[in-house]
Amino acid sequence: MGELKHCAKCGESKPLAAFYRDVSTNDGHRSTCHECDTARQRERRTRGKGDLRVTSGDLRKSPDVTPGPPGPPGDLQASGCALWVAVVAEWDLDAHELQLLHETARTVDLCDRLQVVLDDEGAMSESSQGVRVHPAAVELRQQRIVLARLLVALNLPSGEDGATARPARGVYSIRGGAG
Ligand SMILES: [Zn+2]
Repeated sequence: MGELKHCAKCGESKPLAAFYRDVSTNDGHRSTCHECDTARQRERRTRGKGDLRVTSGDLRKSPDVTPGPPGPPGDLQASGCALWVAVVAEWDLDAHELQLLHETARTVDLCDRLQVVLDDEGAMSESSQGVRVHPAAVELRQQRIVLARLLVALNLPSGEDGATARPARGVYSIRGGAG
């Protein structure tokens, strides 16, 4: 009794009672004290944060983390990012689908930028030939068609604004309406 053991971690000499029992060691106790063991367990639970001083043996054990959804690619703007995050949070996409999603998110961003231009300058622009449809409006319509195709390819529900569900021009005409 009264025997002191040197902790391999904090370097303090403590009574044997301050060490957990471990039959695999020479003296039947762990080489690190209660406090150090507890501290290490806490570190491992908050893995990746703060000062991790784990031994090489601990690093060998692979942490059982399930990878979260992939983050949005860096080239996406706010709208594209929002779409990306919303989709990957709900669906488990394979590499091919992620590529499609990236393409789709970029198209959403482009539509966004075109819309900003139109909001700023108006859908009609005046030129020497008179009032013409703004080129951005033409491009926006093109991109919306691209976007609709991408969404179909991704097999996701279409957007709430109905832009992706609109039939192509001339598919049908409303009869008997206001005339
Ligand atoms: Zn210690």
